[in-house]
Amino acid sequence: MRSHHDAEAPLRALISNRVNFAEHLKSMHNTYTRKSQRNAIYIHVPYCTRRCTFCNLPHFTRLPPSDYHKLIIKEIRTYSSYQYVKESVYHAVYFGGGTPTTLSATALREILQALKSNLTLAPDAELTIETTVSDLTEDKIAVFKEEGINRFSIGVQTFCDRGRRLLGRLGTGKYAAAKISSLLDEGFKNVSIDLIYNYPGQSEDDLEEDLGIIESLNLAGFSFYSLILFKGTPLYRMINMGKCPPLGDLKQEWRFFEMILDYFLDRGFELLELSKLVQPGRDNYEYLRIRYENGDVLGLGAGAGGRVGDMLYMNPVNEEDYRRQVSSATGLPIMGFKVDDRYDFIHYVVGRLQFGRLEWRDLAPYNDSACLHRLIDKLEKEGLVLTDSRGLSLTKAGIFWGNNIAREFATTLLKLLTNE
Ligand code: SF4
Repeated sequence: MRSHHDAEAPLRALISNRVNFAEHLKSMHNTYTRKSQRNAIYIHVPYCTRRCTFCNLPHFTRLPPSDYHKLIIKEIRTYSSYQYVKESVYHAVYFGGGTPTTLSATALREILQALKSNLTLAPDAELTIETTVSDLTEDKIAVFKEEGINRFSIGVQTFCDRGRRLLGRLGTGKYAAAKISSLLDEGFKNVSIDLIYNYPGQSEDDLEEDLGIIESLNLAGFSFYSLILFKGTPLYRMINMGKCPPLGDLKQEWRFFEMILDYFLDRGFELLELSKLVQPGRDNYEYLRIRYENGDVLGLGAGAGGRVGDMLYMNPVNEEDYRRQVSSATGLPIMGFKVDDRYDFIHYVVGRLQFGRLEWRDLAPYNDSACLHRLIDKLEKEGLVLTDSRGLSLTKAGIFWGNNIAREFATTLLKLLTNE
């Protein structure tokens, strides 16, 4: 089974060492040696004005409560009172969701200003916001300009009107393209979109049209995902009731994937990571790089996951539980999970594969291990990787199966490191 999300699943076996969150954070500036000097902040806004028919993410289909941004600002202030966080430099901020632009322009401005006044952002920090086209209003664009948002990730999914209706997206494809175009005209250079392919009834002509529009928009890049059908979603029900055709099979999915890759590699785009193509020099996706370098990711907001030093944590998904946590005596999660060098090592290797290439030195000191050699030989025979004197690269088929490959590496390394 081709998987999109489970490359890191084997790592869960190494996340069991519970620690008192506040106490551990307090001692961290004395006890923890940073794995990366670069850190990131993730702000989760689990609200959407409308539910896409394919979406299985936990979120609320309404606007955020009017004080949601104040809870996030309170978290920022709480963290900034700890010496370890105070001494950290943040090179990327990522507003994800849900739809972060369901927050008002004023709320977004206040969060951005609180980040700058309480934490140390690098002068060239990458500041990303995810948005839909319909939630991207003039007043918010003005705030983004003033407060330095310099990277946009827009959930378009498709420009095809039939596809948009089926997936539950608001507005026509023409409207979406015009909105993106006007954002680029405002001078924002790093604008990417999400593209979904292999949705029910999609033809090769439909996809070709999407690719042509992406090319004509001169975007920094785009992420591409084949549609995954999750049980319980409106789309799942529609297909089960025969109201729309099923998804294309694996052969069709591969055909679409090849079309996307070939179209854009021929036009000078580069593969940035397994599901992202970019124009050279237009997008470096620092947030993702920092995550896989084992830098900190300060997770803020309901349902946000994060990492501070050697401790992983997750905020409550439930709005009331999150509110209670922020208003508690410490204002922090009760528990965190301490991770060790084994976790960091495997996580780093998974990250390298996410970017399509693994150097032999990345596997040190295990690069001579027989089980890794067996795995690499197998992948090479299957045509999924190509090896050279310095390392291995994923082939086109390897990119298609990239998450599965990363998972195989994670499983093999886990066995090796835990002597199973
Ligand atoms: S905008 Fe994103 S999070 Fe919200 S319903 Fe659509 S896919 Fe899900």
